[in-house]
Amino acid sequence: MISPSHVRNSNALNSNALNSKAIARVSELLAALEMQAETPLTNWVNGKLVAGQGEVIELLDPVTGLPLVAYRDAGRTVVEHAVEAATRAQQEWMALTASERGRRMTAAAGALHGYEETLARLESVVAGKPIRDCRGEVNKVREMFEYYAGWCDKQHGEVIPVPTSHLNYVRPVPYGVVGQITPWNAPMFTCGWQLAPAIAAGNGVVLKPSEMTPFSSVVIAMLLERSGLPRGLINIVNGVGPTTGAALTGNPGISKLVFVGSPESGRRIWSWAGWGSTTRGQAASRCQSVSGSRLLVQREILEEVCERLARAASEITVGLPDDDATLMGPVQNARQYQHISSMLETAQQQGARVLCGGKRPETLPPEATGYYLAPTVLVDVTQDMAIAQEEVFGPVVVVMPFDSEDEAVRMANATRFGLAGAVWTQDPARAHRVAARLRAGTVWINSYKAINVMSPFGGFGESGFGRSSGIEGLKEYTVAQSVWVETATSASVAMGYGNGVG
Ligand code: NAD
Repeated sequence: MISPSHVRNSNALNSNALNSKAIARVSELLAALEMQAETPLTNWVNGKLVAGQGEVIELLDPVTGLPLVAYRDAGRTVVEHAVEAATRAQQEWMALTASERGRRMTAAAGALHGYEETLARLESVVAGKPIRDCRGEVNKVREMFEYYAGWCDKQHGEVIPVPTSHLNYVRPVPYGVVGQITPWNAPMFTCGWQLAPAIAAGNGVVLKPSEMTPFSSVVIAMLLERSGLPRGLINIVNGVGPTTGAALTGNPGISKLVFVGSPESGRRIWSWAGWGSTTRGQAASRCQSVSGSRLLVQREILEEVCERLARAASEITVGLPDDDATLMGPVQNARQYQHISSMLETAQQQGARVLCGGKRPETLPPEATGYYLAPTVLVDVTQDMAIAQEEVFGPVVVVMPFDSEDEAVRMANATRFGLAGAVWTQDPARAHRVAARLRAGTVWINSYKAINVMSPFGGFGESGFGRSSGIEGLKEYTVAQSVWVETATSASVAMGYGNGVG
C-alpha cells in the first residue's frame, strides 16, 4: 500500500529523480501555457499569479506514486485578497449592460481555443485521468460558457398581482461574491460548471479546487480573463480544506457558498461556517455526492448479466493516462485508493465474492506502479453491507438480484444517496413507472451518464441539494428581491398582517 503524504510540513519544494519524466512533462506543459516558471503551481488573484503563503503541499504522481509537483497552500491572506478583488470586480461587471456581459461571456467561451490539448495533457498528468476524458472536460468548459452567455440578458423578473394598490415586482439579483469549492474527480468540468452560471448571474467568484488537482482551474481562470472578463472577477485559491478552504468559507465577504465534494466535508463546512444560522441570511450551500456502483438485476437473468459484465469489465483498457487507447487510468490519489481497497477487503470479509478485478490489473506498463485497480465486479452482496451502502467512488460495481419491480424500487431507494440511477428495460411503461418512483436527481432510461449543461443536475438525500446546469443552475446564483411601489394617489401606510391590506 502506498502511503498518502500529499501534505508535507516542509520548506523545500521537492522533486525526485526517479520520477523525472513526469516532472519534466509538467514543466513543459506549464511553459506551453505561459505560466511563470518560478511560481508554477499557485493562485490566480486579481489578475495575477500569486504564491501561496502556507505549508508545502506535495502531489504524488497517480501513475507511479512518486513525487510529482509541489506548491504552497494559499492561506488566509491570499484568500482575503481574492475576496477583495472579486468584490471590486463584481461591481465593475454589474455596471456593464446585460448584453455586454453576454458578449464577454461568449468571448470567454473561446478563451481556451488553442490551449485545449495542452490543458488536457496537463490535467491528465496531474490527475492521472485518461487523456480522452480530459479533452472532453475542456470542451465542456467551452460549452458551459457558450450556454450561459445566452442567459445574461434573459434573466427577467416578474410582477406579482398583490391585492393592494402596489406594483410589486421581483427581480433576480446576484449574491455578490460566491465561494466555490470543488473535488478532484472532474476538476475542469466542475470549474466551468460552477463559474459560468455564477458570473452569468452577475457574481464575482473565489474558487478553491481540490488540493489534489489545483492547476487546471488556475489556467482556465487566467485564459478566461484574457478574453475580456474584468480583472479579479474570477479568482482561484489553492490549498487544503482546514486552512485555505476554511479561510474561504469563513470570509464575511462571501455571500453564497457552493460546495461539491463528499458528504463528510459538506457537513463539516456547514457546521464550521455556520451557514444559514448567521446573519448571512442569503447564504446557501450545496453538498453533492456521486455514486454509481450498485447494479440490481432481475434474478432470472442474474447469471447471464454477471457473465457479460465480467467480460465487459475485463475488456476495459487500463493503462497510462496519456495513451489515447486508455479508458481507465489509476485511482487519482493514495487516500482514495486506500479507501477503495479497504472497502473491498471489508466486503469480502462479510461474504461478498470478487467476480473480476479486485486487484492490480495484470498487464500494465512497468512504470505504472501507482494506484491502479482493475475494474471490479462483486457478487453475493447484501443490502446491509457497507459496500452497498457507502460511497466507494472507484471502479467497483456490486451486483444484487431482485424478484419483483417493487423490490427493485425498494432496494434502489434504500440508500442515503440519490444522485443518479438508470432503468434498463424493454417495457416502456415500466421504464417511466420506475423512473418516477426513484429518489434520484437524474434517472436514465436504457442509457447511462448522459449529462448536458442545458439540463439540471443534482441529488436527493446525502447526494446534496441545489442544482447545477440549466436554468436551475443559474437560479442558484441569484436571489429574489421584491420591490413594492405605491400607486394610489392617497394611500395610508398600514403595517402588519391581517389588517386588511393584504
Ligand atoms: P472532499 O470532500 O474531500 O473535498 C472536496 C473539496 O472540499 C476539496 O476542495 C477540499 O479541499 C474541500 N474541503 C474539504 N474539507 C474542507 C473544509 N473543512 N473547509 C473547506 N473546504 C474543504 O471530496 P474529494 O475527495 O475531493 O472528492 C470526492 C467526493 O466528491 C466524492 O464524495 C464524490 O461523490 C463527490 N463529488 C460529487 C459530485 C456531484 O456532482 N454530486 C461531483 C463530483 C464529486
